[in-house]
Amino acid sequence: MFTVNSAYKVAQTLLREAHPKLERGECSDTAGMKSLWKQIWSLNCPNKVRMFMWRACSNILPTKYQLRARCIGRDDVCDLCGGCETSGHILWGCKVAREVWSNTRLKLPLLKVIPRDFVDIVWDFLERWPRINWELFAATAWGLWNNRNSGRHRVFKELGCCGVGVVIKNEYGQLMGAMSKKCDFSLRALEAEAKAIEEGIIFARELSLRTVILESDAQVVVKSLTEKSMAPSSIIMVIEGAKLSLRGFDSWVDNHICRIENSTAHIMAQNARFVSDVNVWVEDTPPVIEQ
Ligand SMILES: [Zn+2]
Repeated sequence: MFTVNSAYKVAQTLLREAHPKLERGECSDTAGMKSLWKQIWSLNCPNKVRMFMWRACSNILPTKYQLRARCIGRDDVCDLCGGCETSGHILWGCKVAREVWSNTRLKLPLLKVIPRDFVDIVWDFLERWPRINWELFAATAWGLWNNRNSGRHRVFKELGCCGVGVVIKNEYGQLMGAMSKKCDFSLRALEAEAKAIEEGIIFARELSLRTVILESDAQVVVKSLTEKSMAPSSIIMVIEGAKLSLRGFDSWVDNHICRIENSTAHIMAQNARFVSDVNVWVEDTPPVIEQ
C-alpha cells in the first residue's frame, strides 16, 4: 500500500546507531572489529547465514528489545520464557537456545553472565576458543533466529483485522526494509491507506532516513498530504499527524503510483494477517516477497 524510496542506505545508518563509538573513532579495537567481519564473511556457508551473522553482530536484528527501543513494538517479553527478548537472549540465553546449543557437537562452555547482545558472545568465543567450528556455530544461530520468527506467524483471518504494508527501497530500487503490521480494528480502504502512510513515515523515521520519496496508490491520500485538496473527515486526524511527522525529514516528495507498481507493499499488507502484531525486516527479504 505504501513505499518509501530512500536515498540513504538503511544498514549504514543502523550501524552508526549501533556503534556510535566507531563513528566517532573512539573504538580502541577497530582491528578486532575488522577481524570479526573478516571471520563472518569468510564463513563457508550460504550467503543468507553470513548475512544473518553480520546483522546479528551489527545489532540490527529486529528483536522485540530493538523494536521497542525504536518505539515499534509494544513489549520486549520473550514468548517462550518471559525474559527480555534481546539478541543475546534469543540466540544464547533463552531455555530453547540452551537446549539447542547443548545438542550440537560444538560443546561450547557455559557463560557466567549472558550478554544482552549476541556480538559479545561471539567476541568471547573468538578470544577464548577461536578454533571452534564457526560454520556450525553460525548455522545453529541462524536456525534459532528463523525458528523464532516462524513461530510468530499466526493466522488471524477470523478476527476481521486489517493490515498495513510498508516497503523501503534505496535509490537503486533495492529492498532495504519491509514491514507488515496488523491493526486491531477493521478499517475501510481509504482509512487503511492513510494508516499505511502514517506507519511508513514512522518506520522511515525509526531508520533515521533523512530524505524520502513517499509512494502510495491512493490518490486521495496523496492529494491530502500535499494539501492539493482537503482530507476527507475519516482520515483528517491521521493525515495531520503524518504531516507533523514529515517535518522531521530534510526533504520529502509524495508520488501517486498505480496499484501494480505498488504490488510489493500490497503483499506486505496482506501478509499482516499472518503476524501477531508487527513484523519488520531490515536488510533482509521477507519470505512472502522472495516467493
Ligand atoms: Zn526466552
